[in-house]
Amino acid sequence: MTTPHLFPFVRHAYRTPLTIDSAEGCRIRSTDGKEYIDAYAGVASVSVGHCNPRVTARVREQAGRVHHTTMLYRTELLTSYLQQLQDVLPDRLCRHFFVNSGSEAVDFACQTARAHRRKPVILAMSEGFHGGSFLTKSLTGLDAWRPAFGGIDDVLFHPVSSCRNCPDSGCSAGCRHLEPLSVDCAARCLDELEDTLRIHGDRIAAVLVEPVLGVGGILTPPRPFFRRLRTLCDAFEADLIADEVQTGFGRCGTTLFASDLLDLQPDLVCMAKGIANGYPLGLVSATEDAADALKEFLHFSTFGGNPVSLAAADETLRIIVEEQLPGHVARIGARLLEGLVSSLSETPSVQEIRGIGLMIGIELADTLPAATVMERCYERGLLVGIGG
Ligand code: PMP
Repeated sequence: MTTPHLFPFVRHAYRTPLTIDSAEGCRIRSTDGKEYIDAYAGVASVSVGHCNPRVTARVREQAGRVHHTTMLYRTELLTSYLQQLQDVLPDRLCRHFFVNSGSEAVDFACQTARAHRRKPVILAMSEGFHGGSFLTKSLTGLDAWRPAFGGIDDVLFHPVSSCRNCPDSGCSAGCRHLEPLSVDCAARCLDELEDTLRIHGDRIAAVLVEPVLGVGGILTPPRPFFRRLRTLCDAFEADLIADEVQTGFGRCGTTLFASDLLDLQPDLVCMAKGIANGYPLGLVSATEDAADALKEFLHFSTFGGNPVSLAAADETLRIIVEEQLPGHVARIGARLLEGLVSSLSETPSVQEIRGIGLMIGIELADTLPAATVMERCYERGLLVGIGG
């Protein structure tokens, strides 16, 4: 289904498309009066619920005070939000720059790393997704999301090892369900990555990873993975960039960022989506050293750090911290996962059920197209998304 005048690639979901009238919490209402549970959470953006009253009140207040300025000028909101961020981020990530989206955040982080390391190449994962701009599409390994023609040259890809592409047919790693990347798979992946760094390390400025592969299919590496990746990055003088666009702001449970949960210690973190509960905002947080490298360069974003989006982000973060949402997500995420495993794992068309916090996926067998399941869920009042 398409809407006239939009680019024809814009296809709305569902045979009878959903025309949204209003939304509240985890529910969405259509113009024909039906109600849906939005398990897709505004495509992973509505971290404290649709039209959260506290966020809406802050946005209203800010829109009436000043709705636009740029980083040419200061606001008290900017200063207080930066302080709030600093209180929740690790001390070493002490420099921040606001942009408008996840794509722009990844793009800016890569520019920073290249200037920092004075090297041109970004090494990304073959199963990764990083956005819709020309650079971030070029950094995206998933075929379906690559640029229409060609791409940027200074990009290398590394495959994430998993049971699916494992050459060891006799492997008994026991990595089905809940932990698809076994410790063995992860170790093999890193051995191969070390080889790549040995060969190309003098040109690699950064390794770009998602803590949990989102669009790539909800794959969570085991804890030792990122610890060793950090050591490798140090050895080969490359920055480690964490794309937390999907995983940040409590979605994976327990901690505010999946990096903390999975022992990933990045030089640069990219954030967007859940940061402002659906208002457009992206953020890059960096170490002093990495940020320093751009000191002599000109860079500007007209809308980055817009006060209305910042007010939404400020209130969203207050709610997440005050209501201890990461702990809540860990608890209800574990219950949801358990429930899904116990009720669906014997279903022949279900291959694997996995996830962390409320970032949960059900891998289907080839015999059952995900689009069919998405459509059936919709008919029953449940909105879900497709990845992988
Ligand atoms: N990185 C990741 C991991 C994402 O999942 C996405 C969006 N799905 C992006 C970057 C791009 O974000 P945006 O759509 O805000 O540009």
